Amino acid sequence: MIPYGRQHIDEEDIAAVVQVLQSDFLTQGPVVPAFEQRLAELSQVQFAIATNSATSALHVACLALGIGIGSRVWTSPLSFVASANCARYCGASVDFVDIEPDSGNLCISTLRQKLELARATETLPDVVIAVHLAGLSCDMQQLYHLSHEFGFRIIEDASHAVGGSYQGRPIGSCQYSDITIFSFHPVKIITTGEGGMALTNNPELAEQMQLLRSHGITRDETEMTEPSHGAWYYQQLQLGFNYRMTDLQAALGLSQSNRLADFIAKRQQLAARYHQLLSQLPLDTPEVPADSVSSYHLYIIRLHDKARRKSVFDAMRAAGIGVNVHYIPIHTQPYYQQLGFDWGDLPQAELFYERIISLPMFPELTESEQDHVVATLSKALA
Ligand SMILES: *Cc1c(COP(=O)(O)O)cnc(C)c1O
Repeated sequence: MIPYGRQHIDEEDIAAVVQVLQSDFLTQGPVVPAFEQRLAELSQVQFAIATNSATSALHVACLALGIGIGSRVWTSPLSFVASANCARYCGASVDFVDIEPDSGNLCISTLRQKLELARATETLPDVVIAVHLAGLSCDMQQLYHLSHEFGFRIIEDASHAVGGSYQGRPIGSCQYSDITIFSFHPVKIITTGEGGMALTNNPELAEQMQLLRSHGITRDETEMTEPSHGAWYYQQLQLGFNYRMTDLQAALGLSQSNRLADFIAKRQQLAARYHQLLSQLPLDTPEVPADSVSSYHLYIIRLHDKARRKSVFDAMRAAGIGVNVHYIPIHTQPYYQQLGFDWGDLPQAELFYERIISLPMFPELTESEQDHVVATLSKALA
């Protein structure tokens, strides 16, 4: 089976992890800060806080922005469930902004209409979580303008998008957001097995997220409520979590980050080749605006005829091609239906869902495998 995504592990990755195994610290050692510093440099951002998943990074990001019971968080319905669940963990209500039909990213004009209605009913969101689907940035500049006009904060769920750029700056720079989140799950661009990161330019948010990922505990005397009792002393200031990344994971991530540019270049090459090979078929391929570089975490095609999606999908799976669908709209999940959402609420996201298939896309995908994918797809569509 050719999977839709796959990690790339080389000898240097393995050596880096082994080196940590033979060192004094498997966790809470020097490699996590080194990985954080590397990602902060690559992203041109001040602070980076590594966590044990993007899901936990999203959770502490929401908490750091003051999200709690009674808060309102809006996000895209066309994402992995974690983009919305993070608000629910904090007791906040979630609502969804329908997508722009070509990119699948949340639609700025739909958002503006929804914000105007919400202003009239005094139900404006506290935070909007923008998801960069497949690695293509949302229209962050427009979103940033809206955030000033309507008074909300912004989290970028860039789980797909490490290595991409927008307006010439790396995704993760937080130029137009409070916090950006990366995921290092093995299907994503670089991996730590499980892992995530929260990036910000705001020192208070960074400090909050650092506290929350490790039980709410500090060893920094300047943060304590009374003088330290001695070198053993720490204080728990808040109810935090154990969301720490291990040094084993960080060593893998640090080694992987050496190849980030190569990974993105390879994905670009494969995407360009798909674009060309698929141009005559009855489907739409991803378009990337001139001001963006997509990391191409996913290569999502949209069939013209949604009625054929299931048979095409099944034919490709039968031929050993591990196609997938990203995503089932979050609001149609039973958990969210119980909260009052239903089919029909977000028509663009639902139509997008019905048309899409994610084709294999990962650095080690060969041209002959790609030809096999295209030939099988052509046959299934014939
Ligand atoms: C993968 C993913 C997540 C969750 O990432 P984990 O690191 O597995 O917790 C969140 N949001 C999006 C959009 C994702 O694709």
